[in-house]
Amino acid sequence: MAERRAQGEHVYWPIKGKDELDVLAKTFNELMDEIQTAQNNLHTLSVTDALTTLGNRRGMEQEIELMINACPPGAHLSMLLMDLDGFKLINDTLGHAAGDLLLQEVAHRMRQVMRKQDKLFRMGGDEFTVLMPNTNNEQAAKIADRLLQQLTEAIHFDSNTMSISGSIGIAQWDGHSHGKELMRRADLAMYAAKNKGKSCVCFYEIGMSGTASEQMQLEQALKSAIEKNTIEPYFQPVMDTTRNKIMAVEMLARWKKDDQFIAASDFIRLSEDLGLIQKLSNQLLRKGLMAMKDFRRQDPDLKLQINISPVQFSDRNLASDILDLLKEHDIPASVLAIELTESALLLYPEQVEQTMRQLVDAGIGLHLDDFGTGYSSLARLRDLPFDTVKLDRSFITTQSKAGISLPKIVFDIASSMHMEIIAEGVENQNEFKQLQQIGYRQMQGFMFAKPMPKEELVQWLKGTHSHQNG
Ligand code: C2E
Ligand code: CA
Ligand code: CA
Repeated sequence: MAERRAQGEHVYWPIKGKDELDVLAKTFNELMDEIQTAQNNLHTLSVTDALTTLGNRRGMEQEIELMINACPPGAHLSMLLMDLDGFKLINDTLGHAAGDLLLQEVAHRMRQVMRKQDKLFRMGGDEFTVLMPNTNNEQAAKIADRLLQQLTEAIHFDSNTMSISGSIGIAQWDGHSHGKELMRRADLAMYAAKNKGKSCVCFYEIGMSGTASEQMQLEQALKSAIEKNTIEPYFQPVMDTTRNKIMAVEMLARWKKDDQFIAASDFIRLSEDLGLIQKLSNQLLRKGLMAMKDFRRQDPDLKLQINISPVQFSDRNLASDILDLLKEHDIPASVLAIELTESALLLYPEQVEQTMRQLVDAGIGLHLDDFGTGYSSLARLRDLPFDTVKLDRSFITTQSKAGISLPKIVFDIASSMHMEIIAEGVENQNEFKQLQQIGYRQMQGFMFAKPMPKEELVQWLKGTHSHQNG
């Protein structure tokens, strides 16, 4: 009997009468039941994530093999892997309680979107998995879209309103691989989604192999570059075309890895994900302010425009940190302008406004970057303390239908809201003339100058000065 029990069979001691032995047998049976229940509970615990009560990684690994074994030939089985965007930073700045709450809320929203047959898991950290039997790619894509949509709804925590997005990879079981391979493929697809930008969905494709390890290597290299403070600011002149004079420089981050520049938008996004954007941003601002001292010796009116990531607005100290740095370098707040995109307004609406007011009250300029590419309502934008908008290069290059000029519309909107406007990405005379005719005065782009390192800009400033003076 012991052997059969050990093999998991439910065997009971036979109870024949009411004598002492039978009582003993009954007690023994009850005890066995208790042990069984306890074992079941233990098993449940070992496959459950305590924070969200979803399954955990171990549960996923077990479940996937069960599903694969039960999958009839030709049936579909999808795996969805989601990693939250910028979660680490939220966790670090708002605290672990907020982070936990956010994860629980994400789990809750996932449950709302998923169907009965789907199985949900938290793999650890901010990574979630869904196993979806009888689901083809098309169906999985629909579910992924719904999930991402659910996630963007505001989440309230204390006085904070936050919203979150995720990157999703989807892999389809090929009919013969093991669960591990399916997981690997979903992972590769997720990395591809991360690379595409926030709130993206990617499917596994043959040939994606290697991406994950490359990504890991890139992450390591970036961590090390930030640790060693080797990412450098470049500066691109912003021109006042009426006087043919430089009025400001925009600081843009440059990272050279193995003698090759990595695209700024790529490593900025990655450092957001790694929770390192603030550190990087601070390092750059320090260097930028130091450089400004030299620049302003040439041109005392020169302003500095810097980019701030939306996720940095989760940090309540953002404004005071920037003001401290200005003081430390003895540079007036009015020299600095901060550029942010509309996505910041979606991410932490209330906190963003508060931080914006702090910055503006201190005298710092506020630019709305890539104007027109986001989703904010104009009414909302009008209520926020932006003083300048930047016309995105994509608007200059887009050939509009029916002769409607997008740069003209953007110009009219900005003017009606009493905002200054800078056209960005002006590459040639053609574009320049077109913009000038509409009324654009402030411009930036390769036609005037490319972003350059500090020393080069000092030379450039000397050059233009001697031009103007002579
Ligand atoms: P952005 O703020 O819109 O910056 C303008 C981008 O346009 C820069 O790309 C610049 O090099 C490029 N550009 C300037 N003139 C021209 C032109 O005439 N033609 C074309 N085709 N492009 C031009 P970059 O440096 O690759 O930066 C990309 C984005 O990465 C930036 O877009 C900004 O959103 C972000 N970024 C760069 N540096 C930082 C940083 O230090 N912090 C943060 N948070 N974001 C940064
Ligand atoms: Ca910018
Ligand atoms: Ca821009």
